[in-house]
Amino acid sequence: MHSLTPTAVRLIDFYDDGEHARHFTFRLLNTASQTTEVQGDWMKAKTGQFFMLCLPSVGEAPFTFTQLPDQHRNFRALVRKIGRVTSALFELEAGQILGAKGPYGKGWPMDQVCNKRVLVVGGGCGLAPLVGVVNQLIEQKTYTQLMVVYGARNRQAKMLRPERSDWQRHIPVFNMIENGDTEPGENESGGTPVDILPTVLGQFDESPDVVLLAGPQAMMFAVAKYLVASGASEQSIYLSIERRMHCGVRTCGHCYLKDKYVCSDGPTFRWDDLKRYIPAGS
Ligand SMILES: Cc1cc2nc3c(=O)[nH]c(=O)nc-3n(C[C@H](O)[C@H](O)[C@H](O)COP(=O)(O)OP(=O)(O)OC[C@H]3O[C@@H](n4cnc5c(N)ncnc54)[C@H](O)[C@@H]3O)c2cc1C
Repeated sequence: MHSLTPTAVRLIDFYDDGEHARHFTFRLLNTASQTTEVQGDWMKAKTGQFFMLCLPSVGEAPFTFTQLPDQHRNFRALVRKIGRVTSALFELEAGQILGAKGPYGKGWPMDQVCNKRVLVVGGGCGLAPLVGVVNQLIEQKTYTQLMVVYGARNRQAKMLRPERSDWQRHIPVFNMIENGDTEPGENESGGTPVDILPTVLGQFDESPDVVLLAGPQAMMFAVAKYLVASGASEQSIYLSIERRMHCGVRTCGHCYLKDKYVCSDGPTFRWDDLKRYIPAGS
């Protein structure tokens, strides 16, 4: 059950990360107007799902969880400043109260991911929906093999440095910088995530059982096509996609994709499903 009435959340703290991007921690507040059922939904949120952040008198926008609500009812998101809602969010001080609706959408298929050989590929801010998956697999040691490829336009655009450094103590992390003018640093290579795939696949004992992709659509599609051409099954590849959406609950139609709604049938899709709705190459 989802309430269309926002739940009150307090902005707890924030810190900058990369170019025009900031991590925000929010705390769900108990309010008399929300049923315990609706409040309880937040505590059952799944990694890969998203929420609508509501800024009074400004508007609403969807964001993915980088950390699901914890025992203190705190959750986190990594937000890139891009327009109306995000610019207003960057003006807020800790302690201010705003609204949130959700959790919405389908999360990552964790039953297909745990105890498998897993390849995770994220680009830019698009690594955000994958942070929870990688953290969970590492913390619970529920992977056979796990590798992360992270791509950024240039060094200034790289995000989630502490997370990637921490992961690197447990698993291989391949950092790619696209901008040819930038000299790759330690543990960085020049190029896009696709360029490093032959090396990455060579480090798996066998082909990955499951691949999770998030980031710019062109990057995800190029990676998916490369992997399929290399012998991966289309059913083993999952992507998280972004579309303009206003309601989050398959009502407004903004995110409609042929006969699917990205807000509720996604935002995570299997590659063989998704490519029927979005012509490859678009
Ligand atoms: C399921 C989902 C999860 C998301 N998770 C995150 C997240 O974790 N972190 C994050 O930073 N962003 C995330 N986004 C994107 C974020 O919701 C948008 O950037 C949002 O529009 C920002 O609101 P705004 O009012 O600041 O920008 P707006 O004023 O709405 O837009 C600013 C500019 O960006 C363009 N634009 C905005 N969104 C899109 C889009 N989807 N496709 C193409 N152009 C667009 C607009 O046309 C406009 O030119 C997510 C989007 C979806 C659908």
